[in-house]
Amino acid sequence: MVTEKNIMNIRIIKKIYFCCLLSVLAACTSQTSRFAPYVIDDLEPRPEFWKVRTAEIMSICESVEVGRYEKIATTPLGYPVYAVFYGDFSEEAPQSNWSAGNSSNKSSSYLGDVSSRPQTIMFAAGIHGSEPESVAAAVNMISLLETGKDLKGETDEDFLQLASQYRLIILPCVNMDGRSISPDHFRGQPYEVFRACSQGVWKDGSLVGWRGSKEHFPLPLDEVAYPGGYPNGDGYNIQHDVTPGDMRTQEAKAICRLMARWRVDCFLNGHSCEYEPFIVQPSYVDDKQNYERASELFELLNAEFRQAGLTSKVRKNTGRNTLNLTNLVTWCSGGVGLTLECYHGCYTKSGKIHECTFSQLMAPAFISLKTIMKEGLVEPLAPRNL
Ligand SMILES: [Zn+2]
Repeated sequence: MVTEKNIMNIRIIKKIYFCCLLSVLAACTSQTSRFAPYVIDDLEPRPEFWKVRTAEIMSICESVEVGRYEKIATTPLGYPVYAVFYGDFSEEAPQSNWSAGNSSNKSSSYLGDVSSRPQTIMFAAGIHGSEPESVAAAVNMISLLETGKDLKGETDEDFLQLASQYRLIILPCVNMDGRSISPDHFRGQPYEVFRACSQGVWKDGSLVGWRGSKEHFPLPLDEVAYPGGYPNGDGYNIQHDVTPGDMRTQEAKAICRLMARWRVDCFLNGHSCEYEPFIVQPSYVDDKQNYERASELFELLNAEFRQAGLTSKVRKNTGRNTLNLTNLVTWCSGGVGLTLECYHGCYTKSGKIHECTFSQLMAPAFISLKTIMKEGLVEPLAPRNL
C-alpha cells in the first residue's frame, strides 16, 4: 500500500542515494568530507542573520576584537572548534583541581579569590551539529557583544548590561563536522526529514533514530548511507563522550579543560529537538546542592519561555538520572549545568507543528542566558558549599 509515510521514506532514500553520489564526487575533490551535505529541496530560504554554516561561524569568530577567540580543538574533519571569551581571563591557573580543592581545607586552593572576579558562564552551541538554533543564537550574541547589535541590526541593552557583569565563554559550534553536512534549518519540514538529517539513515534506508543512535559509540560509519549531523566526523556523539579515562573526542576533552581552567560557574549546553523549547530536567547525577540550584533555574527558565509565548507547556521537575556532557561541569569546576532544547520548527512524529519565526527559534538561548545572569546577581549560580 502506498502511504504518505512510504512516499516520504522513498523520497528520503532517493535523497540518500543522491547524497552518496555527491559523496563520491566530493571525495575526489576534498579530503575533509566523507559524506556530502544533506540537501532539502524545498527548504525555505534562511534569513540573513541565520549564519550557521561552518565558514560563516569561523569568520565571525576570527573577526572578534572586543572579545578574544581561541582554537580549543580540531575536529576529525579538520575544522577548528572556537571559544570566544568576554571579560578578564588573565588570572593564573588554579593551584589545585576541583576534586582535590573541594576536599582541602581551603576553598581557594581551586577557586582562587572569588571576590576578585565575576562569575563565569559558558554557553556551548552545536554539540549536535544538526541543531542550528543555538548556533544562530551564539553568533548573534557574539555580534551583539562586538558591535552592540546582533546580525539583525538590533540591540539588546538588557543582555549587554548583564553580560558586562560576568565573564562569558561562548562556543558557537562545537560539532563543526556535523554542522558541515547539515541543512541550515528544519523549519516547516516533516518529522522524517528532520530525523534523517539528525541521526542519519542506515544503508537499507531505515532511520537510525534518536535512541537507535545511542546503541553505538561510535556510529558505524561503514553501515550508514548518511550519518546525520548528530555525531562528529568519527561518528561520536560528543554529548555522551563522558567516560573518565576513555574520552574519545577532542571536542569533549577541550570543553572539560575550559570548564576546569576558568572555574566555570554555570554551563548552558545548547541543543534542539522537534518540541517547543524547554530546559531539560536537572540530573540527580550532579551533587545535591547543584541539583537543587539547577532545579530553581529549570523552573525560572521554563517559565520565561512560557511568558515569551514560545510554549504553553508547563514542565514538571520530576528529576532524572541522565549522564552526559552537562553533568561534567559539576566534576570539572563544581559549576551548575543546564541543557537547553530549542525548537526546530519542524513537525513532530504525531504531525504537530508550532508556528514561529526564525527569531523565535533562537530566542530561547537569549532568554536563558539573560535569566541566568539576572538570577546569578541575586544568588551565586554555583552553590559550592564546601
Ligand atoms: Zn542535541
